[in-house]
Formats: sequence, structure tokens, C-alpha cells
Amino acid sequence: MSRTTTDPTFDVVVIGAGIVGSAIARTLSGYQLSVGLLDGREDVGEGTSKANTAILHTGFDATPGTLESRMVREGYRLLSDYSKATGIPVEPTGAILVAWDQPQLDTLPGLREKANHNGYPHTEIISAEQVYRELPNIGPGALGGLTVPDESIICTWTTNLALATDAVQRGTTLLLGHWVQEVRTGSDGTDPVTVLRTSRGTVQARWVINAAGLGGDHVDRMFGYDRFHITPRRGELLVFDKQARPLLDKIVLPVPSVRGKGVLVSPTVYGNVMLGPTAEDLSDRTDTGTSEAGLAFLLGKGKQLFPRLLEQEVTATYAGLRAASDSPDYLIDLDARQQYVLAGGIRSTGLTSGMAVAAHIEELLADSGKIQLTARPDLPAPPRLPNIGEAFPRPYQDAERIAADPAYGRIVCFCERVTAGEIRDAFTSPIPPTTLSGLRRRTRAQNGRCQGFFCGAELGELLDTGGGNAEKARA
Ligand SMILES: Cc1cc2nc3c(=O)[nH]c(=O)nc-3n(C[C@H](O)[C@H](O)[C@H](O)COP(=O)(O)OP(=O)(O)OC[C@H]3O[C@@H](n4cnc5c(N)ncnc54)[C@H](O)[C@@H]3O)c2cc1C
Repeated sequence: MSRTTTDPTFDVVVIGAGIVGSAIARTLSGYQLSVGLLDGREDVGEGTSKANTAILHTGFDATPGTLESRMVREGYRLLSDYSKATGIPVEPTGAILVAWDQPQLDTLPGLREKANHNGYPHTEIISAEQVYRELPNIGPGALGGLTVPDESIICTWTTNLALATDAVQRGTTLLLGHWVQEVRTGSDGTDPVTVLRTSRGTVQARWVINAAGLGGDHVDRMFGYDRFHITPRRGELLVFDKQARPLLDKIVLPVPSVRGKGVLVSPTVYGNVMLGPTAEDLSDRTDTGTSEAGLAFLLGKGKQLFPRLLEQEVTATYAGLRAASDSPDYLIDLDARQQYVLAGGIRSTGLTSGMAVAAHIEELLADSGKIQLTARPDLPAPPRLPNIGEAFPRPYQDAERIAADPAYGRIVCFCERVTAGEIRDAFTSPIPPTTLSGLRRRTRAQNGRCQGFFCGAELGELLDTGGGNAEKARA
């Protein structure tokens, strides 16, 4: 790595520690480069990457020929492989896109053709009878469907954490709590050097990569551009209790519209069922609250799509903000003069495509001829993340592990069966949580029916003592 104490300038700084930025930092720290991963928030994955519908998309319905279509298709493959290596929970449930009226039914052949153009030849049009055979609990009135056998559900939290942890273990310096407020471009005599003024001092870099999600257009303007505008598009979701899970084993998709993928019903990797998201343009880029109108809309949709679901209890509601932009495609562009790369306009597919976006940027950098990419000979193996998925063994079920370390036998969060051992591990991990919601994303603690009512006090104490906890948890 070329950055030393006497050379405070990073070779590359990535702005944004969501899935896209973490994937980019991970990829570039595979080379002999000093890499900084910087985020205004106090944890990785606290932006859009923490609140989405968590589907690993095949890209069957993307617009053919777009960069997004290619990135989603490649990202699906890269993330599927990476999940196996790192233990990110993925369930290949498959999906059925259901047509509820004649115009929707008429679009199915076109969607199938589109899927073929997108390099996904595995969809099938099925009759109403077949739809009800596969999805016996959906509402009446379905006229037919399109199967998408490889759509999968994934844990977005573990994905972000795995990529960021991998980056850190490869030598990336993680700078949290650094909001970029101003950009000054200069030179160190030979090379351009960008000075980022942040809420915690200045950070210097030879190359800057903008993966700032909802803030991407603002950061882009700091580099003198005015080429796209982001509108936060809120998606609200309802999460149903685990008792709803036997009602379906596949993702039920709507026929997509120009405003997005529409309201779906999906199992989650935590063993729940999810209904959503809505699509509502806002002006406030921080408004991730849910609304009465949004939830009422979803209940109305649920009544039509899946009436039996509404007999189940709602465990939680949440909302995420898509970085919707006025660009019809991803905006990924390298500015060789300023040594600046934009990864913008990544609206509703970035969980899937993040690793492909990173590979694409790696290629753009290599092609620019302005940065030396020398592979590191000493790359550490990818990290193995703790499993928080319901379909795979968890510590409380593992008698051998409990015998070796009784902390894995002491449950702290009873709803989600999270053990003291897992909480201790989170606090001693390379990127420990700093908030209860960060702890939830690493362990599932407080994610269940009581939403932390019973375990919240104990978890809060563990958090206050900095996990200190490791010892306490072990007791
Ligand atoms: C409701 C909903 C459903 C979705 N469903 C899916 C799905 O099923 N499958 C799928 O593949 N995708 C889905 N997506 C899209 C996916 O979640 C996003 O594309 C992806 O998470 C974007 O990641 P990111 O890294 O670009 O952005 P983010 O995760 O938002 O990360 C950007 C980071 O940049 C930081 N930042 C911004 N400005 C600054 C600044 N000035 N200084 C410092 N830091 C800054 C932020 O704090 C943030 O952490 C969905 C999105 C939503 C909202």
C-alpha cells in the first residue's frame, strides 16, 4: 500500500459504505493500493442498503441493453458465489409473477421475451390452475403467471457487512462519521489530489469514487457536474409474524410498471413474510418513517393478493428510500482529469448488482491507464459471517458448539433465539455495532415479535459497556 504516515493521501477513497461502496472498496483493496471507505453515518449499511425487499434478482425484467441489465445479471452470479464463500443467507425460493387482469396477462409473453433478451431463458408462462397449485393461498382471480425459478431471497444486512468486513480485512481504512461537505481538487505536483472536507476533518485521495446513494448527485455537484437529480422514492413494507411463513414458499411478484417493480409478497430469510413496497416520491432524503396512508394501501393490496396473510400478526413495519434518478439507466462514469468515478442512479437493484458495479469500476480504472492495479499476493480469505438466516443452522441448535462454549446456549433474545455468544461475537468483530439497530443487523436480536420489549434492556446495557460484555456474555 502506498499510503504511509508521511503520505496521508489515500490512493482511492470510496464515499458511501452501503453495499455498492463496500463492494468497490473490497475489490480495489485486492490491489496494492491504500483505500479509504468513508461514510457520514456511524455504521456501514445504514442507508438504503439496510431497508429493502432483499431479493437477489435475476434481472429478468430489466430493460434489455442497459448497463443495469448487465450489472444485475452479473451481480446475481457474483453475489450468489460470494454468499457461499462468506455464509450470507440466501434461499433460492423462485418467484411467480401473477397476472390479475387481462392486460396483465397479455404482457406475460412480452416479459418472457424480455427475460430472454436479458440472458435469462428460464421463465415459463403458466395457467391459473398452475399458479394456484404453486401458490394455494393467494387471493381469488389470478388469470395466469410467469415463473422465475432463480429469484432468491437474501440477507441484505449480512451482504453489506460481509463486503465491508472483507474490505477492512484486505486493508481498507474505514472512516465512519465522516460526512463529505466540500471537495477541493488540486495536485501534489504530479498527480491530482482531492481534498474532501468532512464533518470530521479532511481526507485526501488521488482517486475518489462516489457511491453515496441518495447523496450521489450532491457529491457529484461538488466535482462540478450537474448531470442527474435524485428523488428519494419511499418504499414502505409490512413484516408478518413467522406463523405466516407456511402460507407461501415463493416470492409472489406483480406485473412491473413504469414506477417500479410494484407490491410483492415474499418470504424473508429470517422466517417471516413481507408485503410491500409502496412507491412514493418525497423531497426529504432522510424520511424513512412509515405512514398511515402507506400502510393502509399495503393492507388493501394484501387483501386482494393474499387475504390469508392479513389473518396473521404484523411484527414490524419499515421503509427504505430508493435513490430514484432522472437518468433512465445506472450512471457509472470515470473522469480521468479529476480522477473521479461516479456510481450513481442505482435505484432498486443495487443489492444484487453491487459486486458487478465494483467489477465494472475496476475495469474502467484499468482501462484509464492512470492507476496502477497490481494484485496483492497476500490476500486474506473472505470472512465467514455468522449465519442469521432461518434456513441454516444457528448456534442455539448446535449442541457441540454449546458444549465447547456455553455462551451459545444462553439465549438473550428469545423471539429470535439469539445467544449471548453471538452478541459477544458481534461486539468483538472487525466492524462492531455502535447502536442497537446495528446489533440487530448483525444478530437479529430485537427483530422478532416483541421488537426488543423483553431483551432491550439487557442489550442496551451490553451496548453501553462496549460489549464489555464479552466477559459478561460469556457468563
Ligand atoms: C424499498 C426498496 C426495495 C428494494 N429492493 C431491492 C431488492 O429486492 N433487490 C435489490 O437488489 N435492490 C433492492 N433495492 C435497492 C437497493 O437497496 C439499493 O440499490 C442499494 O442498497 C443501494 O446501495 P448503495 O450502496 O448505492 O446506497 P446506500 O446503501 O444508501 O449507501 C450510500 C451511503 O452513502 C453515504 N453518504 C451519502 N452522502 C454522503 C456524504 N456526503 N458523505 C459521506 N457519506 C455519504 C450514506 O450515509 C450511505 O450509507 C431496494 C431499495 C428500496 C428502497
